[in-house]
Amino acid sequence: MADAKKLYIKTYGCQMNVYDSERMAEAMGGAGYVATDSPDDADMILLNTCHIREKAAEKVYSELGRFKPLKAANPNLKIGVAGCVAQAEGAEIMRRQPMVDLVVGPQSYHRLPEMEAQVGGGKRALDTDFPEEDKFEHLKARPKAARGPTAFLTVQEGCDKFCAFCVVPYTRGAEASRPAVRVLEEARDLVDRGVREITLLGQNVNAYHGVGEGGDWSLARLIWALNDIDGLERIRFTTSHPNDMSDDLINAHGECAKLMPYLHLPVQSGSDRILKAMNRKHTAEGYIRLIERIRAARPDILISGDFIVGFPGETEADFAGTMALVTAVGYGQCYSFKYSARPGTPAAERPLVDPVEASDRLARLQALLTKQQHAIQNSMVGRDVSVLFERTGRLPGQMVGKSEYLHAVHVNSDDIAVGDLRRVRIVNSGPNSLGGELLP
Ligand code: SAM
Ligand code: SF4
Repeated sequence: MADAKKLYIKTYGCQMNVYDSERMAEAMGGAGYVATDSPDDADMILLNTCHIREKAAEKVYSELGRFKPLKAANPNLKIGVAGCVAQAEGAEIMRRQPMVDLVVGPQSYHRLPEMEAQVGGGKRALDTDFPEEDKFEHLKARPKAARGPTAFLTVQEGCDKFCAFCVVPYTRGAEASRPAVRVLEEARDLVDRGVREITLLGQNVNAYHGVGEGGDWSLARLIWALNDIDGLERIRFTTSHPNDMSDDLINAHGECAKLMPYLHLPVQSGSDRILKAMNRKHTAEGYIRLIERIRAARPDILISGDFIVGFPGETEADFAGTMALVTAVGYGQCYSFKYSARPGTPAAERPLVDPVEASDRLARLQALLTKQQHAIQNSMVGRDVSVLFERTGRLPGQMVGKSEYLHAVHVNSDDIAVGDLRRVRIVNSGPNSLGGELLP
């Protein structure tokens, strides 16, 4: 390994990008690269980018600027841009940043080793195709390296829903599901390497319909098959769309022992007028009824969501609808964003809400969401949960893991190893995590 080249990957955005970065690192392992945590001694730097909000793309350009001195000091350094900014602005990146050697879109990662071999000495490469071949088949893990106790596994990609604000259908392409047998194979391999919790990923993961024995499998069917894998203790999935929350998936939340009681189900707004303008194809009332059905199947489930405030045309009355929906649902955890116009999306042409007004609404929404999050965290004190320990904490003797409800839990004990799944009594609640004591 003395002459192994070093690859530094910086990942932005969602868990799907984290998964993609791992796959790219493995693919580049076959081309003689090992991962490094620092760009300073890297032979190749890869930015895996996100295009969902404006600042994300700008961050990429400023990060690239920071690499200029590294490239000047080492002209053999190869710099690549991957991910959704690469897909959306490939040629523009090449034009704005002459030091970028290669640009690769999310559907072409399997071609990365080949592209890396071609570039350098002034030669550059751009691939933002949506190729026919299955990138996952070409990206199978090479070395059977040991893994931490949790892993992401992408089962579905792309989106056909075309929400008026969103770039995903353009950057990730049409909705596609991986065959069930491939997913199960990858899950077994992860478990063999030490993984105990798998989070199934997809832009619309509950629209999963991969080919399987006897025809297309739903996400629920896939989860039931994963439930049978010995050694796999926990299953999660994200992100879901309300319109794809089928009865079998709701029932699985009530019946499948390994499926964790946590559901990320974005609604975006509580105003039907705005939901229609967003092309969400569901109503606020329909969403609230859906949450009631999910809670009837699994009463303790923790609900999380996404909200956009200041969508074009949003009035104070529309925003009041969002606040009312949040009050009705009671969220354990949420992401909320100020609307950001994305070029090429239908909403990008519409007049913006006054930015001061939008920021004020976001602050009010976040205050309510934080209050709800803390109320749910406080209600955990005195309860017994199971915790999968993932790492050591900042303090000596401290271990950190996640409860079934995805709360971070800190425990002081010298009797816990990474990967242990233990019963813990929650004894206190902090701003973003819980403290607990090991139960005998
Ligand atoms: N597929 C998921 C869904 O339908 O809910 C979410 C996908 S998106 C990667 C994650 C979140 O980013 C969205 O739920 C939305 O709240 C936010 N988002 C997407 N486009 C946005 C935009 N133009 N401005 C602000 N937030 C945006
Ligand atoms: Fe984007 Fe999600 Fe809407 Fe698809 S369903 S367009 S990924 S927000």
